[in-house]
Amino acid sequence: MIEAIEGVVISEIAYGETSKIINVFAKDYGIVGIICKGAKSMKSRLRAVTTRFTYGTFNIYYKKDKLSTLITVDTINNLSNIKQDILLMGYINYLTELATQVYKQNKVDEIYVLYIKTILKLESGLDPRVITNILELKLLDYLGVNLELNKCIKCGNKDNIITIDPLQGGYICAKCHKDEEVLDPKVIKMIRMYYYVEIDSISKIEIKFDVSHKINSFLNNYYDNYTGLYLNSKKFLDGLRK
Ligand SMILES: [Zn+2]
Repeated sequence: MIEAIEGVVISEIAYGETSKIINVFAKDYGIVGIICKGAKSMKSRLRAVTTRFTYGTFNIYYKKDKLSTLITVDTINNLSNIKQDILLMGYINYLTELATQVYKQNKVDEIYVLYIKTILKLESGLDPRVITNILELKLLDYLGVNLELNKCIKCGNKDNIITIDPLQGGYICAKCHKDEEVLDPKVIKMIRMYYYVEIDSISKIEIKFDVSHKINSFLNNYYDNYTGLYLNSKKFLDGLRK
Protein backbone atom coordinates (compact mmCIF):
# COMPACT_ATOMS: atom_id res chain seq x y z
CA MET A 1 0.00 0.00 0.00
CA ILE A 2 1.40 3.41 -0.98
CA GLU A 3 1.31 5.93 1.83
CA ALA A 4 2.54 9.51 2.17
CA ILE A 5 3.99 10.00 5.63
CA GLU A 6 5.21 13.26 7.13
CA GLY A 7 8.34 12.98 9.23
CA VAL A 8 12.00 13.58 9.93
CA VAL A 9 14.91 11.23 9.14
CA ILE A 10 16.41 10.40 12.54
CA SER A 11 19.05 7.88 11.43
CA GLU A 12 20.55 6.34 8.30
CA ILE A 13 22.65 3.22 7.86
CA ALA A 14 24.27 1.68 4.81
CA TYR A 15 22.51 -1.32 3.29
CA GLY A 16 24.54 -3.23 0.74
CA GLU A 17 26.69 -1.40 -1.80
CA THR A 18 24.32 1.32 -2.93
CA SER A 19 21.28 1.38 -0.68
CA LYS A 20 20.50 2.57 2.80
CA ILE A 21 17.93 2.12 5.50
CA ILE A 22 16.56 5.20 7.19
CA ASN A 23 14.41 5.57 10.28
CA VAL A 24 11.80 8.30 10.04
CA PHE A 25 10.01 9.73 13.08
CA ALA A 26 6.63 10.22 11.48
CA LYS A 27 3.30 11.79 12.24
CA ASP A 28 0.64 9.15 13.05
CA TYR A 29 3.05 6.29 12.25
CA GLY A 30 5.74 6.59 14.92
CA ILE A 31 9.20 5.38 13.95
CA VAL A 32 9.21 3.82 10.49
CA GLY A 33 12.13 1.91 8.93
CA ILE A 34 12.45 2.49 5.19
CA ILE A 35 14.72 0.90 2.57
CA CYS A 36 16.01 3.49 0.11
CA LYS A 37 17.18 1.56 -2.94
CA GLY A 38 20.19 3.06 -4.69
CA ALA A 39 20.17 6.08 -2.38
CA LYS A 40 23.92 5.93 -1.73
CA SER A 41 24.68 6.33 -5.42
CA MET A 42 25.87 9.81 -6.47
CA LYS A 43 23.31 9.87 -9.28
CA SER A 44 20.32 8.94 -7.13
CA ARG A 45 17.62 11.58 -6.66
CA LEU A 46 17.03 9.96 -3.26
CA ARG A 47 20.57 10.63 -2.06
CA ALA A 48 20.14 14.18 -0.69
CA VAL A 49 16.65 13.67 0.67
CA THR A 50 17.44 10.63 2.78
CA THR A 51 20.09 12.21 5.00
CA ARG A 52 19.64 12.79 8.70
CA PHE A 53 17.21 15.62 9.59
CA THR A 54 15.47 15.74 6.26
CA TYR A 55 11.96 16.93 7.12
CA GLY A 56 9.52 16.00 4.41
CA THR A 57 6.74 13.85 3.08
CA PHE A 58 7.97 10.34 2.34
CA ASN A 59 6.03 8.43 -0.29
CA ILE A 60 6.51 4.78 0.56
CA TYR A 61 5.25 1.27 0.08
CA TYR A 62 4.20 0.93 3.68
CA LYS A 63 4.55 -2.32 5.60
CA LYS A 64 3.47 -2.25 9.22
CA ASP A 65 6.17 -3.52 11.62
CA LYS A 66 8.46 -4.33 8.67
CA LEU A 67 10.74 -2.30 6.47
CA SER A 68 8.85 -0.07 4.07
CA THR A 69 10.30 0.95 0.68
CA LEU A 70 10.91 4.53 -0.38
CA ILE A 71 9.51 5.85 -3.65
CA THR A 72 10.04 9.65 -3.50
CA VAL A 73 10.43 12.45 -0.96
CA ASP A 74 8.93 15.96 -0.99
CA THR A 75 10.97 18.19 1.28
CA ILE A 76 8.91 20.35 3.66
CA ASN A 77 11.79 22.26 5.26
CA ASN A 78 15.52 21.87 4.66
CA LEU A 79 16.39 23.00 8.21
CA SER A 80 19.38 24.65 6.55
CA ASN A 81 20.04 27.16 9.36
CA ILE A 82 20.37 24.30 11.83
CA LYS A 83 22.57 22.25 9.51
CA GLN A 84 25.03 25.14 9.11
CA ASP A 85 25.54 25.64 12.83
CA ILE A 86 27.39 23.13 14.98
CA LEU A 87 25.70 24.27 18.19
CA LEU A 88 22.22 24.03 16.65
CA MET A 89 23.15 20.57 15.34
CA GLY A 90 23.98 19.67 18.93
CA TYR A 91 20.54 20.88 19.95
CA ILE A 92 18.63 19.03 17.22
CA ASN A 93 20.56 15.84 18.00
CA TYR A 94 19.51 16.10 21.62
CA LEU A 95 15.89 17.13 20.89
CA THR A 96 15.56 14.20 18.49
CA GLU A 97 16.99 11.63 20.89
CA LEU A 98 14.85 13.04 23.70
CA ALA A 99 11.59 13.09 21.73
CA THR A 100 12.08 9.62 20.24
CA GLN A 101 13.04 8.09 23.59
CA VAL A 102 9.95 9.58 25.20
CA TYR A 103 7.88 8.39 22.23
CA LYS A 104 9.17 4.83 22.65
CA GLN A 105 7.95 4.86 26.26
CA ASN A 106 4.63 6.43 25.45
CA LYS A 107 3.38 6.16 21.86
CA VAL A 108 1.38 9.39 21.71
CA ASP A 109 1.32 11.43 18.49
CA GLU A 110 1.39 14.70 20.44
CA ILE A 111 5.08 13.99 21.15
CA TYR A 112 5.83 14.13 17.41
CA VAL A 113 3.77 17.32 17.08
CA LEU A 114 5.68 19.03 19.92
CA TYR A 115 8.99 17.85 18.45
CA ILE A 116 8.28 19.33 15.00
CA LYS A 117 7.10 22.65 16.45
CA THR A 118 10.28 22.81 18.51
CA ILE A 119 12.72 22.12 15.68
CA LEU A 120 10.95 24.64 13.42
CA LYS A 121 11.44 27.28 16.13
CA LEU A 122 15.07 26.22 16.41
CA GLU A 123 15.39 26.69 12.64
CA SER A 124 13.74 30.13 12.83
CA GLY A 125 16.49 31.38 15.14
CA LEU A 126 14.79 31.55 18.54
CA ASP A 127 16.96 31.04 21.64
CA PRO A 128 17.77 27.32 21.40
CA ARG A 129 18.17 26.81 25.12
CA VAL A 130 14.80 28.34 25.97
CA ILE A 131 13.06 26.40 23.19
CA THR A 132 14.70 23.19 24.41
CA ASN A 133 13.67 23.84 28.01
CA ILE A 134 10.07 24.41 26.88
CA LEU A 135 9.99 21.01 25.17
CA GLU A 136 11.65 19.37 28.18
CA LEU A 137 8.95 20.77 30.47
CA LYS A 138 6.11 19.68 28.19
CA LEU A 139 7.53 16.15 27.82
CA LEU A 140 7.45 15.61 31.59
CA ASP A 141 3.75 14.74 31.23
CA TYR A 142 4.67 11.75 29.07
CA LEU A 143 7.47 10.68 31.38
CA GLY A 144 5.03 10.48 34.28
CA VAL A 145 6.93 13.01 36.37
CA ASN A 146 5.14 16.27 35.63
CA LEU A 147 5.32 19.20 38.01
CA GLU A 148 2.34 20.64 39.89
CA LEU A 149 2.31 24.25 38.66
CA ASN A 150 -1.13 25.38 39.74
CA LYS A 151 -1.25 24.87 43.49
CA CYS A 152 0.85 23.95 46.49
CA ILE A 153 1.76 20.27 46.20
CA LYS A 154 1.31 19.82 49.96
CA CYS A 155 -1.90 21.67 50.83
CA GLY A 156 -3.50 22.66 47.51
CA ASN A 157 -3.35 26.36 48.31
CA LYS A 158 -3.15 28.54 45.19
CA ASP A 159 -1.89 31.68 46.93
CA ASN A 160 1.46 32.65 48.43
CA ILE A 161 3.44 30.22 46.30
CA ILE A 162 7.09 30.85 47.16
CA THR A 163 9.03 28.13 45.39
CA ILE A 164 9.08 24.94 43.32
CA ASP A 165 10.54 21.88 44.92
CA PRO A 166 11.89 19.25 42.52
CA LEU A 167 11.87 16.61 45.25
CA GLN A 168 8.15 16.94 45.91
CA GLY A 169 7.41 17.84 42.28
CA GLY A 170 5.74 21.21 42.37
CA TYR A 171 4.78 24.48 43.97
CA ILE A 172 5.25 25.04 47.69
CA CYS A 173 3.30 27.77 49.50
CA ALA A 174 4.63 29.97 52.31
CA LYS A 175 2.64 28.06 54.94
CA CYS A 176 4.08 24.66 53.94
CA HIS A 177 7.60 25.85 53.24
CA LYS A 178 10.29 24.22 55.36
CA ASP A 179 13.86 24.13 54.10
CA GLU A 180 13.30 23.95 50.31
CA GLU A 181 15.44 26.33 48.24
CA VAL A 182 13.46 29.49 47.50
CA LEU A 183 13.60 30.38 43.78
CA ASP A 184 13.28 33.86 42.28
CA PRO A 185 9.55 34.62 41.66
CA LYS A 186 10.38 35.33 38.01
CA VAL A 187 11.80 31.82 37.66
CA ILE A 188 8.67 30.32 39.22
CA LYS A 189 6.42 32.34 36.91
CA MET A 190 8.45 31.56 33.79
CA ILE A 191 8.57 27.81 34.43
CA ARG A 192 4.78 27.84 34.44
CA MET A 193 4.76 29.96 31.28
CA TYR A 194 7.12 27.52 29.53
CA TYR A 195 4.80 24.66 30.38
CA TYR A 196 1.61 26.33 29.11
CA VAL A 197 2.88 28.31 26.10
CA GLU A 198 1.85 27.13 22.63
CA ILE A 199 5.20 26.56 20.92
CA ASP A 200 4.05 27.65 17.48
CA SER A 201 2.69 30.94 18.86
CA ILE A 202 6.14 32.07 20.07
CA SER A 203 7.57 34.74 17.78
CA LYS A 204 10.21 36.19 20.06
CA ILE A 205 11.65 35.39 23.43
CA GLU A 206 12.30 38.13 25.96
CA ILE A 207 13.69 36.61 29.08
CA LYS A 208 16.58 37.72 31.23
CA PHE A 209 19.64 35.52 30.95
CA ASP A 210 19.89 34.82 34.69
CA VAL A 211 16.23 33.70 34.74
CA SER A 212 16.58 31.38 31.73
CA HIS A 213 19.88 30.10 33.12
CA LYS A 214 18.25 29.22 36.44
CA ILE A 215 15.37 27.44 34.68
CA ASN A 216 17.86 25.48 32.59
CA SER A 217 19.75 24.37 35.71
CA PHE A 218 16.50 23.43 37.43
CA LEU A 219 15.41 21.30 34.45
CA ASN A 220 18.84 19.69 34.06
CA ASN A 221 18.74 18.59 37.69
CA TYR A 222 15.14 17.47 37.42
CA TYR A 223 15.82 15.40 34.31
CA ASP A 224 18.92 13.82 35.88
CA ASN A 225 17.12 12.88 39.07
CA TYR A 226 13.59 11.98 38.05
CA THR A 227 13.19 10.96 34.41
CA GLY A 228 15.54 7.96 34.25
CA LEU A 229 16.77 9.16 30.85
CA TYR A 230 20.48 9.14 30.10
CA LEU A 231 21.13 10.54 26.64
CA ASN A 232 24.56 10.69 25.00
CA SER A 233 23.39 13.59 22.85
CA LYS A 234 22.77 15.61 26.04
CA LYS A 235 26.34 15.06 27.27
CA PHE A 236 27.59 16.08 23.83
CA LEU A 237 25.45 19.23 23.81
CA ASP A 238 26.62 20.17 27.31
CA GLY A 239 30.20 19.84 26.02
CA LEU A 240 29.45 22.12 23.04
CA ARG A 241 27.87 24.73 25.29
CA LYS A 242 30.96 25.04 27.49
ZN1 LIG B 1 0.90 24.63 51.02
